[in-house]
Amino acid sequence: MYDVVILGGGPAGLTAALYTARAGMKTLVLEKTMPGGQAALTEWIENYPGFPQGISGPELMQKFMEQATKVGAEFKTEEVTSVDFSGTVKKLTTNNGEIEASTVIVATGAQARKLAVLGEEKFTGRGVSYCATCDGAFFKDKKVAVVGGGDSAVEEAIFLTKFASEVLLIHRRDELRATKILQERAFKNPKIKLIFDTVVEEIKGESAVTHAILHNKKTEEKREEKLDGVFVFVGTVPNTEFLEGAIELTSLGYITTHSYLKTSVPGVFAAGDVRETYLRQVSTAVGDGATAAMAAEHYLAELNG
Ligand code: NAP
Repeated sequence: MYDVVILGGGPAGLTAALYTARAGMKTLVLEKTMPGGQAALTEWIENYPGFPQGISGPELMQKFMEQATKVGAEFKTEEVTSVDFSGTVKKLTTNNGEIEASTVIVATGAQARKLAVLGEEKFTGRGVSYCATCDGAFFKDKKVAVVGGGDSAVEEAIFLTKFASEVLLIHRRDELRATKILQERAFKNPKIKLIFDTVVEEIKGESAVTHAILHNKKTEEKREEKLDGVFVFVGTVPNTEFLEGAIELTSLGYITTHSYLKTSVPGVFAAGDVRETYLRQVSTAVGDGATAAMAAEHYLAELNG
């Protein structure tokens, strides 16, 4: 029986673990793959305070992990498949058995949204990728497309110019959503070619990606573009499938939170990208993690009288 089980080992979960373990709570972090979350897949983080030169995502997350471990947080690589939040004792079913806790902090984050076009699934890992840090080096001197217009798409397009000979940044509107500083960097980069008002309609190839069908929504022109890779950065979807019916979610599947990051279930808190929020950054995840941890501690103190 744990005082708190934290679901997810990204920046929100690892910060929550640091705070709860340091407050003397018996803390378990469950992570289904590798700790660090999406931040660990980010090549370089420039807007996390304390690192004026920036810091690599994997290195920053390694430090978070070390700090949480040092104060006594326990870690297990297990995936939660269902939850029972009906009683005071919270029950979690994982791929490895059952775990009980007095409080739960959900920090399961979000995952890459798919384009949902023909060829995308077939060529995933064979030219279609959702992680430039992981796969960029395979595209040395190749021509790739990046789909999306947000911070991720623009940042990763810039990163990919380290390897690729040409990067087509394909966005469905005529204006990028990304912050101005990133936009300016992309506009100045000679290897990046912006293609506006356009969607990828199909990804084609044989053993790997060779072409994509691009559809200009303004002119209605469709053309086949020769490409070696397609990187998709069209936003994220929250990892909350296992919570359906157990906790209040928004129509898009994010967790609804109230003051002190309480969810609709007493004793269950949410932190980071998985909750309905305005900004999804490492810095906001860190703040959430700390708040949820202290709220969990407070709840437990009241429960124990
Ligand atoms: P995002 O901000 O939600 O942007 C998603 C982009 O994909 C938008 O441009 C959207 O187009 C486009 N899109 C969505 N569905 C699409 C579809 N089916 N087909 C084609 N295009 C589609 O997602 P994000 O860039 O992953 O960023 C997520 C969060 O992380 C944001 O809060 C962002 O600020 C943050 N982030 C920050 C940094 C940084 O600060 N350096 C870096 C990475 C991410 P529309 O514009 O037309 O909606």
